[in-house]
Amino acid sequence: MRIQKIHLTNFRNFDDVDVEFGEHRNLILGANAQGKTNLLESIHILGVGRSHRDRKDANLVRFEEPFYRIEGIFEHIGVKTRIEVSYGEERKRIRINGKDAKPVDLIGLVGIVISSPDDIDLVKGSPGFRRTFLDMAISQMSKEYLVTLQRYVRALTQRNLLLRAAQERRIDASEATTWTQSVVELGAMVVRKRVAYLEEIVSQVSENFAFISGKTSDIKLTYDPRGYGIGEGTDIAVSLANALNAHSDLEIRRGHTLYGPHVDDFKLLSDDRDIRQFGSEGEQRTAVLALRCAETNAMGERLGRYPLVLLDDVFAELDEARAGALTALISKFDQIVLTSSRPARLADDDMHRITITGGRIG
Ligand code: ATP
Ligand code: MG
Repeated sequence: MRIQKIHLTNFRNFDDVDVEFGEHRNLILGANAQGKTNLLESIHILGVGRSHRDRKDANLVRFEEPFYRIEGIFEHIGVKTRIEVSYGEERKRIRINGKDAKPVDLIGLVGIVISSPDDIDLVKGSPGFRRTFLDMAISQMSKEYLVTLQRYVRALTQRNLLLRAAQERRIDASEATTWTQSVVELGAMVVRKRVAYLEEIVSQVSENFAFISGKTSDIKLTYDPRGYGIGEGTDIAVSLANALNAHSDLEIRRGHTLYGPHVDDFKLLSDDRDIRQFGSEGEQRTAVLALRCAETNAMGERLGRYPLVLLDDVFAELDEARAGALTALISKFDQIVLTSSRPARLADDDMHRITITGGRIG
């Protein structure tokens, strides 16, 4: 789906603005601190129901105001969809074509891929960033995955509550394990989907990496289960169950579940070396962008249309050759919204320009 226009009320540094978008390539221009990232963030919220950089909706409300509201008009093969997300008085509300909806109703509707400078955490940051990458990417392609993941999280929460109760001797330790079966079954389903997803995108990541960097290397994406095995021929559920059973005393002492997809990770290897450890800054940026472009491709294939691609300041740290290659690589996508603080060479004739100054357009 393409975004046609957005209306922001009291969102971040915007008080009341309308923004129109071009069908294909859009460039948001402005000096530092004018609202470029805020505008991308608002589109992201319409696409997936939450910000990519702040979990607390209260922080997104314009200072000193009581609420924010974002309304966007999207279009796909002639059909318009109106999405509204608002927040005030500690209540968040999502509406699709005027009807109340839940965040899960948004997932996969528009399809969003975002890349920002924070993406470097996909290489350098803690495992949580990489798990979020997998979960967002797969959820937008598969409601089934999202539902399984939510059920897993609920089972995990219950199991943890009982482990804490056992720790405080309020219940017998055996009761804590009543949720083990659900955690194991749902957890194994999550892991299998994540492993399959990495297998699905690895050749694309490899191609994209070669295209942007101008040299071929052997890229591997390896799922990294913490404390249990998933090798060839392994029954993941059995393997996870064994790890949990073998450490049940420790789990009760710690009061939470120690193994499962909620602590797993994945690695990005180039010629068998971890890019996190050996990659240059530019290579790490390249790897992340190769990953984001592969995410876009996979979603495009699965949904039958490309997602909306939001690229926040991604050219800033790439050299001339890599920036040029990235421009070529993303040109096949459907609709893109880029930000830049420089009226860069990117701004050619068929690029729809949006200039922001102090939260105002134009
Ligand atoms: P850069 O080029 O430095 O990335 P940017 O144009 O992307 O700049 P934004 O991140 O969009 O800048 O932020 C613009 C301004 O919005 C900042 O000065 C910030 O202080 C302000 N801002 C952030 N949150 C709020 C809020 N809740 N209410 C009002 N202003 C806010
Ligand atoms: Mg910014």
